[in-house]
Amino acid sequence: MSGSLVIVGTGPGRAELMTPATAAALQCATDLVGYGPYLERIPPAQGQFRHPSDNRVELERARLALSLAAEGKRVVVVSGGDPGVFAMAAAVFEAVETGDPAWASLDIRVEPGVTAMLAAAAEVGAPLGGDFCAISLSDNLKSWTTIEKRLTAAADADFVIALYNPASKARPHQLGEAFALLRTKKSADTPVLFVRAAGTAQARVVRSMLGTADALQADMRTLVIVGASTTRSVGRWVYTPRSER
Ligand code: SAH
Repeated sequence: MSGSLVIVGTGPGRAELMTPATAAALQCATDLVGYGPYLERIPPAQGQFRHPSDNRVELERARLALSLAAEGKRVVVVSGGDPGVFAMAAAVFEAVETGDPAWASLDIRVEPGVTAMLAAAAEVGAPLGGDFCAISLSDNLKSWTTIEKRLTAAADADFVIALYNPASKARPHQLGEAFALLRTKKSADTPVLFVRAAGTAQARVVRSMLGTADALQADMRTLVIVGASTTRSVGRWVYTPRSER
């Protein structure tokens, strides 16, 4: 039997937001590899093995998945949202680059998913209607200096900024520091949106402004959107026009 490895994104949380292609890959898998809480969201299938892990050991998890595929298993690596956005797909390719040369000829495929910033934007209107960028505030894999440099550049370029991983117990101060930096570059009335559990029945939106935004509104399930100079409200919606004004 020749093995395969599919890296899937399950979307932001609601079943309807998982693509049929991801659902099909999950259904024919012999082995599921992923962060425990993501695996728990997937209904059990008979004869399928699960390899849950915590969320810190991405490369190890990727190597496990590749070894199982090399043994002939149909392996699915599970990420939330999209697997290519701050998630497992890059870790798998890094493991291929640095691992057993035979892994490079395995049947590997990526199935996209609805990433958090798209689900979050849809909860509030169309804040990503103009040019935007995404920055992860996690400094597990890069330095805070790099993050500050990118925030500064994004503010100077007047991008709408989607902030992933805005907070965790290990890093309670960073979002506050990011807001402080952005306040030196952008107007105090710039819209700031905290969208928690976007695309699920528990979705919650807090609308704020850069001058007064409270970093404590964000947790690990929150996506923060900081507007561009043109981002504005109409009724209960927030949007960024496609034109410059
Ligand atoms: N691969 C994922 C992102 C993983 S990074 C994706 O494409 O969505 C984890 C971060 O994503 C969280 O800290 C949070 O900022 C964001 N996130 C994931 N799911 C979310 C959701 N349903 N609502 C809001 N933010 C979410």
